[in-house]
Amino acid sequence: MKNIAIIGSGTMGNGIAHTFAQFGYQVNLIDINNEALEKALNTISKNLDRQVAKGTLTESEKTITLSNITTFTDMKSGIAQSDLIVEAATENLELKLKIFKDLDTFAKPEAIIASNTSSISITKIASVTNRGDKVIGMHFMNPVPVMKLVEVIRGYATSNETTALVMDLSKKLAKVPVEVNDYPGFVANRILMPMINEAIYTLYENVAGVEEIDTVMKLGMAHPMGPLQLADFIGLDVCLAILRVLQDGFGNPKYAPCPLLVNMVTAGNKGIKSGEGFYNYANGVKEAVVASKFS
Ligand code: NAD
Repeated sequence: MKNIAIIGSGTMGNGIAHTFAQFGYQVNLIDINNEALEKALNTISKNLDRQVAKGTLTESEKTITLSNITTFTDMKSGIAQSDLIVEAATENLELKLKIFKDLDTFAKPEAIIASNTSSISITKIASVTNRGDKVIGMHFMNPVPVMKLVEVIRGYATSNETTALVMDLSKKLAKVPVEVNDYPGFVANRILMPMINEAIYTLYENVAGVEEIDTVMKLGMAHPMGPLQLADFIGLDVCLAILRVLQDGFGNPKYAPCPLLVNMVTAGNKGIKSGEGFYNYANGVKEAVVASKFS
């Protein structure tokens, strides 16, 4: 595999493009939005600068990495030569089904199509294509150039060959792939989201404040970041959407999102990306929001 196309150049798409390009792959980065592509190239360049400053990359490796990336707004030409396509567009079922239909029509017949979805069923996405055996989940973690894990999700029809190729490719990116089956939330979010939801309930029931909850989990469980800070980082709207997928997928009320999370998302407080979640991020300073606001 040499030619990789990435669909969507947002938070995840730019990190995935960065990683493939750094390891010598030719990357076509595709987005419907030109501004998103410009922003992505800027972000990649800044993140590469950070690696150069740390001494983990040379200036010439940075130049080569950037030269391995070409941007496109036209999907059809961007994927024509691709051996692997990694879809990292907005988390929306209808959108992903449309994208996969188009990818199946315009990609080379032998191309593998992967989705970076956090929660949408790979089996469902594959069902709109005529190559279910070549559709797979490739769930990178944020920030992609730093995080080692790739959760490799086998849909119902995904072949052994496709799985083996994607596992092997992930290792070539210096990642650690873990193979899992396609059930709601896969493994990562099935375990993470109930923990985040419980942290939100703990706040909502006024058991403790934001910093207290996060400190207990950081110092007590050796988590690098508390669950409320992590929720702000992921995006509260994303957390809510994943909990709904778990709730619908399993039909079990234990996954019901905390009413406080629903209220915050409805009010537009989505975490870092909106400037406030459980912490306020005004002027580049992170400050816990007072507990009385949450009960
Ligand atoms: P994002 O909103 O930052 O970026 C999505 C990008 O997709 C935008 O730039 C948008 O213009 C583009 N897009 C929308 N429709 C498109 C189309 N038809 N063709 C091409 N581009 C299109 O979203 P994100 O956080 O990068 O998430 C992308 C995917 O990765 C989602 O499926 C999400 O569940 C998954 N994911 C996110 C995280 C995370 O921490 N943010 C972690 C793991 C997986």
